[in-house]
Amino acid sequence: MSENKIPSASFGVVGGSGTLSSNFPANFTGDDVKILEDNLRFATPYGESPAMRLFSVGETRVLTVKMHGWRSGVTRADASRQVFWVFREAGVENIISEGGVGTVNTLLDIRDFLIPDDYLDMSMRKDVMLDGRYLLVMRDALCPEIRQALIESTKKHFDGRIFTRGVYANTDGRHFESPAEIAMLKGHADIVGQSICPEVYLAREIGACYAGVYYTVNYGEGIKKWSHETMSDIFYDDADGIGRIILDAIRILANKEKNCECRSLRKETLLKDVYNSESAKG
Ligand SMILES: [Zn+2]
Repeated sequence: MSENKIPSASFGVVGGSGTLSSNFPANFTGDDVKILEDNLRFATPYGESPAMRLFSVGETRVLTVKMHGWRSGVTRADASRQVFWVFREAGVENIISEGGVGTVNTLLDIRDFLIPDDYLDMSMRKDVMLDGRYLLVMRDALCPEIRQALIESTKKHFDGRIFTRGVYANTDGRHFESPAEIAMLKGHADIVGQSICPEVYLAREIGACYAGVYYTVNYGEGIKKWSHETMSDIFYDDADGIGRIILDAIRILANKEKNCECRSLRKETLLKDVYNSESAKG
């Protein structure tokens, strides 16, 4: 088990498939971006954390992890707990996530960007939490201020179509969805992916603001045929652009006083005694 001491950081970046091939943010070092420490693994109550990287953007310290912390031999639930437990210990207050997603809304095309303002959890992993001390109100679960910074930054770096709101439906994976599942989601969601839950719950539990930027890499089954080759091209070609979007969003947020309500939507649970009791039943 690693003995690394958890460094302080005010931002967390949960990398997804968008930045995986770019070794984020190594391609942007120089100017105001510096890698401070690399390959950090921390002991957590849920097992050793995935490798993390500490970097700075100006004065702002950022901890980042690749591919949501997912790796073989560790459940995705535990991987998420490890990442968010480390973020909490580091004092992270702002979390940006990213990823490639499938389309549900028939108006979307491949390579559209979307900064969702809501989500729909179709996964089975709803009990993923750290210590369950809080009642989590999921109003404005995707921080309006981080979303605004991501919208601004995406507009600066991408001249294709950008959708500034929408619903992200989360499924368990690892497989993609069936045509019947996509048909069921139509009218309820715009995009479908596998990472926003439980990250959105864990972020609220640690009192951090959370939002993400997503781009479409495939059509939902039954909407239109898509090719794995296109998905692979996007994976390798677009990673630097997504890295730039995230770094600029951090620069915007670092120079701004936030007035969002995110932290106040985490309330002390009224079920404290129940959570402390081993014999609690639903
Ligand atoms: Zn917020």
